[in-house]
Amino acid sequence: MTKFIFATASFMMILSTAFSQEKADPKDTEVWEPEPRVVTPGKDPYAPPSDAIVLFDGKNLDSWVSHDGKPARWSVGDGAMTVAKGTGDIKTKQSFGDIQLHIEWRTPGKVEGEGQGRGNSGIFFCEKYELQVLDSYNNRTYSNGQAGSIYKQAIPLVNASRRPGEWQSYDVIFIAPKFKQDGSLNTPGRITVFHNGVLIHHYTEIKGTTEYIGKPKIVAHGEGSLRLQDHGNPTSFRNIWVRELKQ
Ligand code: MG
Repeated sequence: MTKFIFATASFMMILSTAFSQEKADPKDTEVWEPEPRVVTPGKDPYAPPSDAIVLFDGKNLDSWVSHDGKPARWSVGDGAMTVAKGTGDIKTKQSFGDIQLHIEWRTPGKVEGEGQGRGNSGIFFCEKYELQVLDSYNNRTYSNGQAGSIYKQAIPLVNASRRPGEWQSYDVIFIAPKFKQDGSLNTPGRITVFHNGVLIHHYTEIKGTTEYIGKPKIVAHGEGSLRLQDHGNPTSFRNIWVRELKQ
């Protein structure tokens, strides 16, 4: 009897599946809303697309302020901005959450110093999480502090560095960490990075704030500035733009 009931139930299931598939319409699984807005790509992959917020186009530091709120004091010339030693970090006037970032950077052609002292700078997302900028061409240092590292948190998959004095690029997808009402972590930050077009981080988890000494910390925050580091070396930047990742 049990067998009979089981066989009947199975038969009914097969029958109903067959019927529902017969009735299924391909349109049932089409999704029409929202319609992705139109974006015109740049002429080359590094040129800002139509919806980019251009943060530096080679002319001035209008989108930037010094870390202390005063006007940014880095030098501008030949289509680039260069760290003016001792003037301090600079940061964007605008705050960002999840973004796509394109940025080009160049460490000094004349090699001076070694390890962390060669062309050191950095890009801090939300002013808290550093993607390291360093001359890592034939310049061994700790792996989680070389170019492309999430400083003292994550080692890049490979070393895609160009020679000192050559322009290099980072293309980044940064997903900011999200926090609960009580300030605890809801979802961790994530970062994907291409260095000179080569993938070096794929959805890497950000463990917390960048700390020179000690472990990363979980600190609740909202949107924040992009911050560029003055580490005392005359590293240059150009062609900086972001796209906010919102539909
Ligand atoms: Mg640095």
